[in-house]
Amino acid sequence: MSKVIEHDQQSTMDKSEGKKGVQPHAFVRNTRQRRVILDVLRSTDTHPTADWIYQRVRERVPNVSLGTVYRNLRTLAQSGEVLELNYGSTFSRFDGRATPHYHFVCERCHRVLDVLELPVQSELEREVERRTGFRVHGHRLEFYGICRECRQAERSGAVSVEAGKNEKNGQAEAFHEEQ
Ligand code: ZN
Ligand code: MN
Repeated sequence: MSKVIEHDQQSTMDKSEGKKGVQPHAFVRNTRQRRVILDVLRSTDTHPTADWIYQRVRERVPNVSLGTVYRNLRTLAQSGEVLELNYGSTFSRFDGRATPHYHFVCERCHRVLDVLELPVQSELEREVERRTGFRVHGHRLEFYGICRECRQAERSGAVSVEAGKNEKNGQAEAFHEEQ
């Protein structure tokens, strides 16, 4: 839907080119907003939520609305410039790194981290095709566990090295608000 609006504005701009005094305000504003959104998203590797992005964008575009940020993120995701990581029923997170890669979700601090150390295993797709007769266009792979920083915090705290036992005993609360 938002794509259609964009095209309309684009063509309006094209037609108005050369006509003095006709300014495509909406288009310019949209383009600028989208550039700021991309900027903010690409400046972090935390895979932020739309709300986090909105808070940062607002510092640079004071009158921007959350709805506008959402709409632009959707458009950017549709065009493949960013990735939208959907986590079931909860909010999406966005990823400024648009090339395929894997993720790690920390069960303690809930950060989503890139796993660039492992190349995308495209042979898995061929394997699934071979076994099922489906045509596979891509795949997502996510790892779950405890991230390096949380493991370090665990080790430097009073907690013993018996990590497996301590994981269920809270300790995590302090990290929950961390983005
Ligand atoms: Zn963590
Ligand atoms: Mn990523």
